Amino acid sequence: MLTPTEKIWHNGHFIRWEDAKVHVLSHVVSYGSSVFEGIRCYSTALGPAIFRLSEHIRRLQDSAKVYRMEFAYSAGQLSEAILELIRVNKMGACYVKPVALRGYGDVGVNGIKNPIEIYIACWEWGKYLGEEALAEGVDVCVSSWNRMAPNTLPAMAKAGANYMNSQLIKMEAVANGYVEGIALDTAGYVSEGSGENIFVVRDGKIHTPPLGASVLPGITRDAIVTLARDNGIPVVETIVPREMLYIADEVFFSGTAAEITPIRSIDRITIGKGRRGPVTERLQTEFFGVINGTKPDRHGWLSPVYATAAVK
Ligand code: PMP
Repeated sequence: MLTPTEKIWHNGHFIRWEDAKVHVLSHVVSYGSSVFEGIRCYSTALGPAIFRLSEHIRRLQDSAKVYRMEFAYSAGQLSEAILELIRVNKMGACYVKPVALRGYGDVGVNGIKNPIEIYIACWEWGKYLGEEALAEGVDVCVSSWNRMAPNTLPAMAKAGANYMNSQLIKMEAVANGYVEGIALDTAGYVSEGSGENIFVVRDGKIHTPPLGASVLPGITRDAIVTLARDNGIPVVETIVPREMLYIADEVFFSGTAAEITPIRSIDRITIGKGRRGPVTERLQTEFFGVINGTKPDRHGWLSPVYATAAVK
């Protein structure tokens, strides 16, 4: 369970955690009309620093645009609000969640006139799939649920409604004794986990499903592609048949919450040697190296909380 912090940002003001409430007849409650982000602030050599803040804000704006939601706040204002929120709550490493929702007003499906409420909360948070998962790997399954079909719910938007699909995937996986489920797209190709992108390694080459396979354009996914290329590891965005998962040398998840989590079995079939493989480990070293300051932040991914001039 999460521990409350003192303040939540709401439409330009800091309010008490307890006061961040919406009316039950708000549009979002019936229709899932929200867009949101999940962002990590790490404890780094530069003090608390946010990982890829500008990319998260951009994706939030993109998600909103798809759903015709207009924000009264610019990217710069939202970035500053996030940094200030962390300072106001005196947080170090934490998870930050901005959410924009259609609020109280009309009760019909068309919520275009309902007010857009933006909230940003932060709280302390550990490793998503467990501390051990990063080193040992996790046991997962292929879900019986598909990701959304193209032109139904847009997978590129990080919208609340999409997470009904994620819940089906996750709940089924957990009910069957797995940590997570991998969903296929409606063509039967590998898409992604309920809250993670997926990477498949075979013969030293990395494969990851393209955006057309109903995946969220993960910011960690992009970081991994960048780090792989920086390190001369070939990486391709290509359709991945289901059976490619089983015969892979390594498979891993990526995500803000999952970071880089190795997968050691899928549907009880052992992947590679049944533990974290060398490519996964190398990418973890690069990824955590940037965060820990043992590797240079070559791509300017960290925004220190206490040096606003460094915000991109
Ligand atoms: N896919 C889904 C469905 C997700 O919810 C997430 C988490 N935001 C991801 C992929 C990974 O994206 P990111 O690396 O930006 O956290």
